[in-house]
Amino acid sequence: MLSHKEAVELLKDPDLIGIGMAADAVRRRLHPEGVVTYIIDRNINYTNFCSEYCTFCAFYRPLGHPEGYILPKEVIFHKIQETIELGGTGILMQGGLHPDLKIDWYEDLLRSIKQRFKIHLHCFSSPEILNIAEVSGLSIRDTIARLRDAGLDSIPGGGAEILDDEVRHRISRLKCNTEEWAAVHREAHKLGMKTTATMMFGCGETLEQRVNHLEVVRRIQEETGGFTAFIPWTFQKENTSLGRFVKEEATAVEYLKTLAVSRLYLENIPNVQASWVTQGLKLCQIGLRFGANDVGSVMIEENVVAAAGAHNCSTEEELRRIIRDAGFIPKQRDTLYRTFFLN
Ligand code: SF4
Repeated sequence: MLSHKEAVELLKDPDLIGIGMAADAVRRRLHPEGVVTYIIDRNINYTNFCSEYCTFCAFYRPLGHPEGYILPKEVIFHKIQETIELGGTGILMQGGLHPDLKIDWYEDLLRSIKQRFKIHLHCFSSPEILNIAEVSGLSIRDTIARLRDAGLDSIPGGGAEILDDEVRHRISRLKCNTEEWAAVHREAHKLGMKTTATMMFGCGETLEQRVNHLEVVRRIQEETGGFTAFIPWTFQKENTSLGRFVKEEATAVEYLKTLAVSRLYLENIPNVQASWVTQGLKLCQIGLRFGANDVGSVMIEENVVAAAGAHNCSTEEELRRIIRDAGFIPKQRDTLYRTFFLN
């Protein structure tokens, strides 16, 4: 397995194609059947009210702001109904950190969804779980267990950004630190729940700090084996206050190198995703030869990165075409990366 030092050296190495080939070899070993997967799901942002003021975020509104909202249950039900009608199998539900919503609000929402729909609920990133625990006076474990009993199926890896406290202090001072982010995933895995891990890079961190992030994720996976996938993407600066300080967004080469090094560093995580939503379809397609074996979601709705200036869109047919054209077999998967569908 790649050491921390070797990973930093690779990120500095100009041999882009060589790094890509090494990552592609790992992808081939882990996925010899040549399948690249995608999911049909919907991102529902139940509230944009948030008390954290992260500098890279263009999505949140402070409490009392006229553009702030909490989606009524009927609106959420309608979005889920539409998702199912479009062949969707999952809902990715995330929102801001609302200081007044206690666990009963979330339990009620999850239960009322599960009473009406047969759909996988992949919801509430670490900072949201920690917020629910705090405002409800519960432990992390009890919070996750209660949400699971109400219908939560898995937890997304959002809120990780860069898992290095020096970076976190600079870009998201009020949000959870590295250990707290990790604690949510460890507890979820101990309770038998799968989660994903993400990384938002290019927000002014050093290459060492970027690899520190990979190391945190690799260590958790060694202990628990509970991550299904790793999903790296680049900071989108438009409409964010951090964007004024980070002069240039990460380039295509930086994205591809980081994707490939992630595949090499995280050999213990089965799936690595290339993100077309933030990188665009063409770069995502090239990412399939830099270690990625998944292109993420057809994404019926996305508000968070759209608020920060990423306006890429696609259809299922388009995703299948870019996968086929890159020399792979496209297959729809579910949130847990299972491909039992008839395609
Ligand atoms: S990234 Fe999340 S926690 Fe931070 S301000 Fe935006 S919605 Fe709030």
